[in-house]
Amino acid sequence: MTETSEARAGFVAIVGAPNVGKSTLVNKFVGAKVSIVSPKVQTTRTRVLGICMVDATQLIFVDTPGIFAPRRRLDRAMVAAAWSGAADADEVLVVGDAEAGLDGDARVIVERLKAAGRKAILAINKVDAVKKPRLLALAAAFDRSGVFTDTFMISALTGDGVADLKAFLADHMPRGPWLFPEDQISDMPERLCAAEITREQLYLQLRQELPYAAAVETADWQEKDDGSVRIEQVIYVEKNSQKAIVVGSKGSRIKALGEAARKQLEAIFGRRVHLFLVVKVKPKWGDDPARYRDLGLDFGA
Ligand code: GDP
Ligand code: MG
Repeated sequence: MTETSEARAGFVAIVGAPNVGKSTLVNKFVGAKVSIVSPKVQTTRTRVLGICMVDATQLIFVDTPGIFAPRRRLDRAMVAAAWSGAADADEVLVVGDAEAGLDGDARVIVERLKAAGRKAILAINKVDAVKKPRLLALAAAFDRSGVFTDTFMISALTGDGVADLKAFLADHMPRGPWLFPEDQISDMPERLCAAEITREQLYLQLRQELPYAAAVETADWQEKDDGSVRIEQVIYVEKNSQKAIVVGSKGSRIKALGEAARKQLEAIFGRRVHLFLVVKVKPKWGDDPARYRDLGLDFGA
């Protein structure tokens, strides 16, 4: 399709505390699963772009890692990536959590935007989970900060209000040519996407047992003649005890992880997938500069 003078394109940085529903919202905007959704906080380590078209407008969503008080180096790098994404964006969309309210994390975000003189759009998410009077009080509390030009009440889960918000964002993008092919929904290379899917299963299936000490890498990717793909992944953990958890008794856990991840991958790639998982112990992988480059993060942050 050729572009017309109507064409618009821009970046929307999605900023919010962990667990407010940023990934769910991006997935709803885009209409496909591109970002990792998990009940466990802080699982988005990579800046994931979701891209969608609204008529002749291309909206590019930068799903930022949760903004919180960074302790470890990896956390600091994530926070730096999140804020630089916000600074470069055409619009900043702050996602608030109707259940959590204007809590500590939300206040930090609002204060930081205020200090930067940055205006933002507010989406109060999870309206399905709370009563109306609470929503109005919350909207008023956010509004007092003076940071927000517009406020939307949405449910990323049910889709309530999401279409209005999407249309509004599209109207506010600058005129200009599209920055990605029209049919592209994510700039995540397939290998990275595949690793994210497996990592999501790690979080979903192991929760408390395995903290943030695991990383997944796609080590090999082979296209087969029958149209299927053979994917080999390495799950890195920091200790032998963690390896034992991931493998499970008689390999039961890694089998379940592999099966669940494979199903997701087949759904996303629309083809048969042969997935092979191995677990390796790599002490202090969280301090390896190469890993930061792989994730598009700044080691020195
Ligand atoms: P992120 O950390 O901000 O990316 O949050 P996620 O998108 O991973 O969502 C965190 C949790 O909140 C998940 O369990 C979601 O299912 C849930 N969630 C997201 N949006 C909504 C919503 O609109 N309503 C309700 N009730 N739950 C939601
Ligand atoms: Mg997320």
